[in-house]
Amino acid sequence: KMNTDLGQHLLKNPGVAQAIVDKADLKQSDIVLEVGPGTGNLTTRILEKAKKVIACEMDPRMAAELTKRFQGTPQAKKLEIILGDVIKMPELPYFDVCISNTPYQISSPLTFKLLATSPAPRSCVLMFQREFAMRLFAKPGEKLYSRLSVNCQMWAKVDHVMKVGRNNFNPPPQVESNVVRISPKNPRPQISYEEWDGLLRIAFVRKNRVLRSGFLGTSSVMEMLESNYRTFCAQNDIPLDDGPLDESAAADMEVDDDMGNDEMDGIMDVDDDDDVPDFFKEEADKRAKKLQENPNRKKKGKVAELVRSKVKKVLENDTDLADKRARMCDEGDFLKLLYAFNEEGIHFS
Ligand code: SAM
Repeated sequence: KMNTDLGQHLLKNPGVAQAIVDKADLKQSDIVLEVGPGTGNLTTRILEKAKKVIACEMDPRMAAELTKRFQGTPQAKKLEIILGDVIKMPELPYFDVCISNTPYQISSPLTFKLLATSPAPRSCVLMFQREFAMRLFAKPGEKLYSRLSVNCQMWAKVDHVMKVGRNNFNPPPQVESNVVRISPKNPRPQISYEEWDGLLRIAFVRKNRVLRSGFLGTSSVMEMLESNYRTFCAQNDIPLDDGPLDESAAADMEVDDDMGNDEMDGIMDVDDDDDVPDFFKEEADKRAKKLQENPNRKKKGKVAELVRSKVKKVLENDTDLADKRARMCDEGDFLKLLYAFNEEGIHFS
């Protein structure tokens, strides 16, 4: 009767449930967001220590069971149940701490959502599948390093809390789990999450590709940056020369879309389906096909050329990162890139 599509692996070991809640270091004044309370194994322990629990549960049967469990008890008035998909909530309610035996399908979007939350919570204690947890700690050059790793390390400090074997759950999942604590940096870095993540999305479309080809060699990326640049200029009253390019300049701009036919591609890739922005992949693939079919390539305008020269300058001169692969870049490299791009009026959101 458990719905494993919803990741309903309930914690059956009370010792583990208690340890998770203890590791959150709750204060009596805390508002706690619990994602996926299920039948309330963690909820009941959180209610003992916090001022309020906001429990977000997608399965109406579970929500009903949870309501029943606390009905008529003093705890009931400290518990607010939100019925729905936490990922689809446009904005999370205010909370100090997040605790979740996370349904594994939403590990990645939930983590990104928590990292983007502002004001940042004090900490998030989350149970993940082991492989996923290890991605949060991965360092540049390691196999599991991805957009998730950089984001996590940019916005937070991550600690390993404990390993949890599969037999502590009912029904047992396929793989082992780990509890981690994500403590957002305080103060929060003063950059826009959307800008930062927008840049990472481009860099990590194929993490084994050098940044030059990820940016300059992908026409969908260049078109997006051109469109953002037009918006930026309009907002800042910067006049644009929007004419067509003459023939020779246009010829200079001809580039083959490099779809990452890199000797490294495919070898090092881990399964980060959640991370890879399919939009860019699909767009890039569509365009590559169109280019092959039609040798009379679309003529680019002067604005496209200007944006292209700015991107080239940033990668080759300002940061010297053109030949580095995303998988080798650390947080500092990406910050340097974002700063240099923004200096040139190039934006990612
Ligand atoms: N907290 C309970 C425990 O530890 O025993 C249950 C954990 S179980 C791994 C995950 C719970 O999350 C299930 O109750 C499931 O219905 C719920 N869930 C799954 N996807 C969800 C989503 N997108 N938003 C909110 N809850 C979700």
